[in-house]
Amino acid sequence: HFNFCSGPAMLPTAVLERAQHEMLDYQSKGLSVMEMSHRSSDFMAIAERAEADLRELLAVPDNYSVLFMQGGATMQFAGVPLNLLGKGGTGNYLDTGIWSQKAIREAEHLGGAHVAASASDNRYTAAPSPSELSLSANAAYLHYCENETIGGLQMDYTPEVEVPLVCDMSSSILSKPIDISRYGVIYAGAQKNIGPAGIVIVIVRNDLLEQACPEAPTLLKWKAFADNGSMLNTPATYAWYLSGLVFDWLKAQGGVEAMAQVNARKASKLYGAIDASSFYSNPIAPANRSQMNVPFVLADESLNSVFLEKAEVAGLLNLKGHRSVGGMRASIYNAMPEAGVDHLIDFMRDFEQRHG
Ligand code: PLP
Repeated sequence: HFNFCSGPAMLPTAVLERAQHEMLDYQSKGLSVMEMSHRSSDFMAIAERAEADLRELLAVPDNYSVLFMQGGATMQFAGVPLNLLGKGGTGNYLDTGIWSQKAIREAEHLGGAHVAASASDNRYTAAPSPSELSLSANAAYLHYCENETIGGLQMDYTPEVEVPLVCDMSSSILSKPIDISRYGVIYAGAQKNIGPAGIVIVIVRNDLLEQACPEAPTLLKWKAFADNGSMLNTPATYAWYLSGLVFDWLKAQGGVEAMAQVNARKASKLYGAIDASSFYSNPIAPANRSQMNVPFVLADESLNSVFLEKAEVAGLLNLKGHRSVGGMRASIYNAMPEAGVDHLIDFMRDFEQRHG
């Protein structure tokens, strides 16, 4: 079976097998990782190794902290303004789709947000160009979403601004190399390319740890997490351990450079198949087509349910699009093997022949 779910997403089979092997008795310690104190030396070793491997995979510079927090990426929609606006200013936002808008709405609750550019003019089919960016005079940061998981719109450039760049990378982190030094803050919910749900990773440049709003809850304060090795309270220990297994697996695959090559091949095959047919379509401008989430619609929408039923019988799971947009969506994160995409394309061709 191939699971095209957008999140929680497919995990590498090798990771699940290793977790199964170790679940009852971790390395002959006589207990499961789930049962370990988060302050035990065994768990501390697991936690530190995971952080070190993530730092290595993404080449995180030493002047950045890597935090393992909870509450998902959604909690960071509030965490960003609460941690960055303590010295005043306004959060500036790029609006490229539903996740951008959720971040904007949360900032509005917390005092205001300025939309520096929006893709609404083209109905979210292309990212605003760099020249369209218009920051407010008192901008404290610019926030954007690198990959809009629902709309399937991915940024084709990294904005260049004078203020700290804050990026929601939930659905594209670890899929390709990134230059961390261009960012002030990167955050990502784990349940796509990192591990199981329950963790959100925050990578923050250390000088930005000093400007939190005093009223920010302790459990949202990046500095408190940085100062306490992300162990301010009980962390999501098992999710942290499983994320570490994924990092280990990624290193064995050749790291993010190797993943980027496979990911580019998978996406280009799938968009190629969609473009080659009038039966399927994807509305996004080619430069902004997501490498991770490929939404597509059938020309005849009355075939949607039979498409999904037949796909499931063929072992192709969770292809239904997000409830807000309908149609189909194939999420093809790191753990989706190229063979899964090949199967999907074969199935789509066959379905078109029968129903087209
Ligand atoms: N941002 C993006 C780009 C997402 O895809 C998602 C979830 O799918 C979120 C934020 C919200 O993540 P969470 O469910 O971890 O709060």
